[in-house]
Amino acid sequence: MEQHLLVTALRDLKDQFLRLVDTLSAFHDLARIRPDRVDREELLYQALGALMENHGIARCSVFLADGDRLRCAAALDWDPRSGEAPRPCADDHSYPSSWGLMGRALEQGEMQHCPDLTQCDTFTPGENGPRTGSLVCVPVPGGEGPAGVLNAYHPEPGYFDRPALEVLQAIAGITGQLLSNWRYRRDMDRTVRERTAELERALEHTRQLKESFEQLSVIDELTGIHNRRFFFPEAQSALANACRHQQPFCVVMLDLDRFKEINDSYGHAVGDKVLQVTAALVKGQTREGDITARVGGEEFALALPNTDLQGGLQLAERILTSLQNVTFSRRGERIRITASLGVTALPPGVRSAQIDDLLQQADHAMYLAKTQGRNRISVYRPEPD
Ligand code: GH3
Ligand code: MG
Ligand code: MG
Repeated sequence: MEQHLLVTALRDLKDQFLRLVDTLSAFHDLARIRPDRVDREELLYQALGALMENHGIARCSVFLADGDRLRCAAALDWDPRSGEAPRPCADDHSYPSSWGLMGRALEQGEMQHCPDLTQCDTFTPGENGPRTGSLVCVPVPGGEGPAGVLNAYHPEPGYFDRPALEVLQAIAGITGQLLSNWRYRRDMDRTVRERTAELERALEHTRQLKESFEQLSVIDELTGIHNRRFFFPEAQSALANACRHQQPFCVVMLDLDRFKEINDSYGHAVGDKVLQVTAALVKGQTREGDITARVGGEEFALALPNTDLQGGLQLAERILTSLQNVTFSRRGERIRITASLGVTALPPGVRSAQIDDLLQQADHAMYLAKTQGRNRISVYRPEPD
């Protein structure tokens, strides 16, 4: 008799030990779930899979609260004797959040256990759901109150004993934590994406501002053509290119004649208008690749790549003639606009030159034109040594 008791006790001990191993295996599987690597559905399936395979549960599901409904988020069906893996059996069905045993678990925030469905008043059979066996509904904790319910079913009445219920509660707790982590991660990702997009928009705006600022800083406000800040580096780089490829290069300086008198006679505003007209006219005579700028009060400079002295002179003459032909009148009086121009060209064979030097030569020639009577063009001639 005593020996029989000992055998029974040993068998119980062995059962308990095996269940402990199952429980630890389930926790081990749960611990390996990575909420940052899977979507919510996959996360729930992994959690349910860990629970089922280690506890011989026939059917389990997670329903999540969705407004005033409980919506099936994951469900697994399994016949432990089949040797096959549990099969997903979720469809998009939902129930009112107070429905049956599951609704009660959600509302009360407490585990509901029905060891025998045929004897349970609260149990409401689903359309194709079981009507016999045992069912446990455990609230899955969320941030504020339960996020949903974990359901575990077995066709055998009284299948879930106390330790099994405790394990189910622990697993529902872990599932809730995994869901919170997943949600936190998803919100973080969304925030990071939104912030990144905002940052990109701000960067783009800054880039555009910078571009327009850079653009503005090289444009002469009054005339709308380039200013000296633009002229010097651009002209220097074009000149270096001309030297490198042994191409002709020409520089023209233009200074309006007796401009001070225009200001004095007609006012500064009219003087401004004359400058605008002159700028447009000069720019209009140039071709693509020419560099035109207002480099002083009533002084304009032109750097002409691929243009020899002859070409530079032709352009200067065109400008002179068109200025003479401008009809600019004030109070019925025709204002005469003339200019003096100086032209110089890069001597052939020169391997390196400075734009400042060429500009000085053109300036020199321009002053010669002034001294010779204005309204004319003068070509720079190097003084004999
Ligand atoms: P010259 O034929 O010898 O070149 O005589 P000028 O009167 O043109 O030369 P001067 O250098 O004595 O005068 C240039 C004038 O240009 C003086 C200045 O008031 C005027 N000026 C400079 N910048 C501007 C401007 O932006 N607007 C106006 N309206 N006048 C300006
Ligand atoms: Mg001047
Ligand atoms: Mg002048």
